[in-house]
Amino acid sequence: MGKIILTGDRPTGRLHVGHYVGSLKRRVELQNSGEYDKIFIMIADAQALTDNADNPEKVRQNIIEVALDYLSAGLDPEKSTLFIQSQIPQLTELSFYYMNLVTVSRLQRNPTVKSEIQMRNFEASIPVGFFTYPISQAADITAFQATTVPVGEDQMPMLEQTREIVHKFNTVYGETLTMPDILLPDNKACLRLPGTDGKAKMSKSLGNCIYLSDSEEDVRKKIMSMFTDPNHLRVEDPGQVEGNPVFIYLDAFCRDEHFEKYLPDYKNLDELKAHYTRGGLGDVKVKKFLNKVIQEELAPIRERRKEFEKDIPAVYRMLEEGSKKAEAVAAETLAQVKRSMKINYFEDRALIEEQAKRFNSEA
Ligand code: ATP
Ligand code: MG
Repeated sequence: MGKIILTGDRPTGRLHVGHYVGSLKRRVELQNSGEYDKIFIMIADAQALTDNADNPEKVRQNIIEVALDYLSAGLDPEKSTLFIQSQIPQLTELSFYYMNLVTVSRLQRNPTVKSEIQMRNFEASIPVGFFTYPISQAADITAFQATTVPVGEDQMPMLEQTREIVHKFNTVYGETLTMPDILLPDNKACLRLPGTDGKAKMSKSLGNCIYLSDSEEDVRKKIMSMFTDPNHLRVEDPGQVEGNPVFIYLDAFCRDEHFEKYLPDYKNLDELKAHYTRGGLGDVKVKKFLNKVIQEELAPIRERRKEFEKDIPAVYRMLEEGSKKAEAVAAETLAQVKRSMKINYFEDRALIEEQAKRFNSEA
C-alpha cells in the first residue's frame, strides 16, 4: 500500500485564506512533491447539507466556486482526483455500517461538533445528520484507504473519531481499513487562522474572511479595517502582538525577503514585533505591509482563476471524471468491507453450500 491523501472542504462559500494556509497550500505542495501515490480532494456537499438542508441552493452554487478555488490555488486534476461527495453512493453505505461502531455519548463528546452546535444555535434541534457527520467523515477517509489527511487543527477530533472506528472495525471484522494520520500545518499561526474581526477562527459561516477570489481592492479594505490590539490607541503606545490578528497573519504569510522588498527598515518579523511591543509603530504601517505580503500571494491565484472561469463546463467535466474515478475506488473498499462483515451473501459460495447441506440433511 502506498501513501494516499484524502481531504476536502464544504461548499458553503468560496475558500478563504484560512483554508489556504490551514490546508490548501499544503495540499498543493504535497501534490507536487511526488511523494504520494494517490491524492483525493473532495467537495463535501453532502456534509454541507447536514446543516444547510433548507438551503440546498447555497451548496449547489458553491460547488463550482470551491472547484475554481482549487484549480487556481494549483491543484492539478492530472495529479489529484477532484470529486463531489454526493456522487459517491458508497460513502453513505459505509457510514451506515460505521454508525453501529460509535456510541451517542462518544459523538456528544466531540469538542468541534460541540462548538459548531453552539455557533449555529442548534441546541435541541440538531439534525441527526449533522450530529453524526464525524462518522460520515470516517467513511470518506477510509473509502480511499487514506494514510494521510492534511487539515486544520479543528479537524483533530474528527481524525481521532475515524481512527477509533478503524480500530473497532478491524478488531471486530478483521484487518480491512487503513489507519489514517492527520497532517497539521508546521507553522503554528496556520493551525487556526483567526478572522479579520479578531474571532478565534476565520470561517465562512462567520463572515470574517479574506477570500482567495476577493479583488485586490476588497482585500486591501478588509486588511486596513482589521481588528488589532484594542489598547494600542496612539502610535507611541506599546502594542501587543500575541493574539493580534495582524501579527498572526504576518506569522502565517510573511518571509524575511518581504521586508527587503516592502519594509527595508526592518530585517525580519521579530524586529517589527519588537518595535510594535515597545511602542512607536502605528497599525496603519503594519497593515500596509501585511496588505503587500498577502497581495503578492493572492495575485497569481486570482489571475489563474480568471482563466479557469472562461470554461466553466470544462470544470464540471473535470469534476465528473474525478467523481467516476473516486467511485471506482470507493466501490472496491465497500466490497472489501462487506466481505469482512460477511454480508456478501451471493459471492459466498461456502455459505450457500453450507446452507444447502443443512436443509438437505434436515429433510
Ligand atoms: P464552515 O463554516 O462551513 O464549516 P469552514 O470555513 O470551517 O466552513 P471547512 O470546509 O469546514 O471550512 O474546512 C475546510 C478545511 O479548512 C479544514 O481542513 C479546516 O481545518 C480548514 N480550515 C477552515 N478554517 C480554517 C482556519 N481559519 N484556519 C486554518 N484552517 C482552517
Ligand atoms: Mg468547518
